[in-house]
Amino acid sequence: MTTPTQIRAPRGPNRTAKGWIQEAAKRMLMNNLDPEVAEHPEDLIVYGGRGKAARDWPSFHKIVEVLDRLENDQTLLVQSGKPVAVLTTHALAPRVLIANSNLVPHWANWETFDKLDQAGLMMYGQMTAGSWIYIGTQGILQGTYETFASAANKHFGGTLKHTITVTAGLGGMGGAQPLAVKLAGGVSINIEVDPTRIQKRLDTRYLDTVAPDLDAALKLAKDAKREGQALSIGLLGNAAEIVPELVRRGFTPDLVTDQTSAHDPMWGYLPPAQADEDLGELRRSQPETYLERARAGMAEHVRAMLELQKRGAVAFDYGNNLREQARIAGVANAFDYPGFVPAFIRDSFCEGRGPFRWVALSGDPADIYATDQALLELFTDDQRLQSWLTYAAKEIAFQGLPARICWLGYRERDRAAKLFNEMVADGRLSAPIVIGRDHLDAGSVASPYRETEAMLDGSDAVSDWPLLNFAVGVASGAGWMSFHHGGGVGMGYSQHSGLVAVADGSEEAAWRLSRCLTNDPAMGVIRHADAGYTLAQDVARERGLDLPSLGI
Ligand code: NAD
Repeated sequence: MTTPTQIRAPRGPNRTAKGWIQEAAKRMLMNNLDPEVAEHPEDLIVYGGRGKAARDWPSFHKIVEVLDRLENDQTLLVQSGKPVAVLTTHALAPRVLIANSNLVPHWANWETFDKLDQAGLMMYGQMTAGSWIYIGTQGILQGTYETFASAANKHFGGTLKHTITVTAGLGGMGGAQPLAVKLAGGVSINIEVDPTRIQKRLDTRYLDTVAPDLDAALKLAKDAKREGQALSIGLLGNAAEIVPELVRRGFTPDLVTDQTSAHDPMWGYLPPAQADEDLGELRRSQPETYLERARAGMAEHVRAMLELQKRGAVAFDYGNNLREQARIAGVANAFDYPGFVPAFIRDSFCEGRGPFRWVALSGDPADIYATDQALLELFTDDQRLQSWLTYAAKEIAFQGLPARICWLGYRERDRAAKLFNEMVADGRLSAPIVIGRDHLDAGSVASPYRETEAMLDGSDAVSDWPLLNFAVGVASGAGWMSFHHGGGVGMGYSQHSGLVAVADGSEEAAWRLSRCLTNDPAMGVIRHADAGYTLAQDVARERGLDLPSLGI
């Protein structure tokens, strides 16, 4: 039996499973737990607080075993990280169907979840942890870059040059922030309470340097800002103390945000503590006190962000539900600064644009470089894509299986997938390619404090849409589909679905890809057109969607 910390996906063109979708699912599950990829693989934790790939080690091993014997007309059912059944379906059905962390709405809270989790009945799937399509910090890098680049366009004349961003959290997702700000031309101070996370970002070149204390961080940042130099600075400390300290000192950054795991107040956000205090012990022995202190810390943190906003900083929430935790702790105006989706991303969603990602099952970086080149030639007019892919090919360190991400929209993803499938078929790629996406996408999530915050028609909390998205993926030939609850912002606050497909060069794959990668991003256009966004309605009209209720 593999020992937990040694997990590494098989590579190369030969498979032990009976089809490439099963083999891909197995490799991607294992890749999620590769120590290069996962934040805490020994506990099956991939990223995002406690986002897990499988419920426990016996479940992990059982899933691997089943995927190796699963026939090409069968489907494996996974319930919160545990393989519960194999059913005979049909050749074009998904090979795996996954449901993670779902609770009936009245009980959809951390308290209920924790009881079930401790009883061994559930696990937290986050978004791409439990659906086996996490690709390390690169997975969020381009989205984070899109956000900061949009902020630059909206507020700073198109570049973050000569600006300082203050943020916190250098975990699996948050670790993309320093590099994204740098790519947009700016300086960042990145507060992180865990020194091992700072080291990991230094090692993988997501972070340039670490300052020994706040004074040094501010000096480095101000010097770099003056020089117009892009620089990322790590700073060990607690955001609930350091951000208020910035207010006390009268230092106002140009932008302020946060990506600690605030969505999970019990396990994700660390309250300020004495140097010798054991927070783990406090959490165990006095959970109520721990929770109160974590929320009090978040309240201080948000009060300071609101004050910085008042003093002129561009403040935005980065999708971790920090504002809601602060509101619960008594900060009545916590929502005075906006979330990043309404502030910067919604127009992309109206075009079905979102994070399209792919992984080379060969394990050979050359396959990814070949796909980079192919997309550069396919989408010659997309300047953002051109500069991103050119940069990424040169600068991004792979984690685990070589992978890439870029944002593509409706009627683009299916073209990219078709091309990849042809490249596998004619031998330009040495093994099949896995194609997937984050659950954070244009039409796949209902999350009123994040992706669906401030929808034009007030439909923020309507979760029919992610359910339809899940069903559409199943009906359209996806390789595996997932439906989760609580990703990004925590229990009770979101429902979302995920899609993964496999390009193995076969005709069957071409059939599946053309349908599922057309219909999946279509859901983004449909959802936003229905909510009244004229941009989405125009896209629907121009690109030939049939929307009867809108007369389109
Ligand atoms: P993670 O758990 O891997 O990392 C969180 C980091 O925050 C950890 O390294 C932790 O040590 C640090 N931290 C906790 N409390 C702190 C404090 N008080 N001060 C300083 N550092 C502290 O999580 P992640 O995958 O990086 O995700 C971070 C958050 O962002 C989550 O809430 C996640 O749901 C959300 N998220 C946002 C997006 C997006 O696109 N906006 C995408 C995915 C996830």
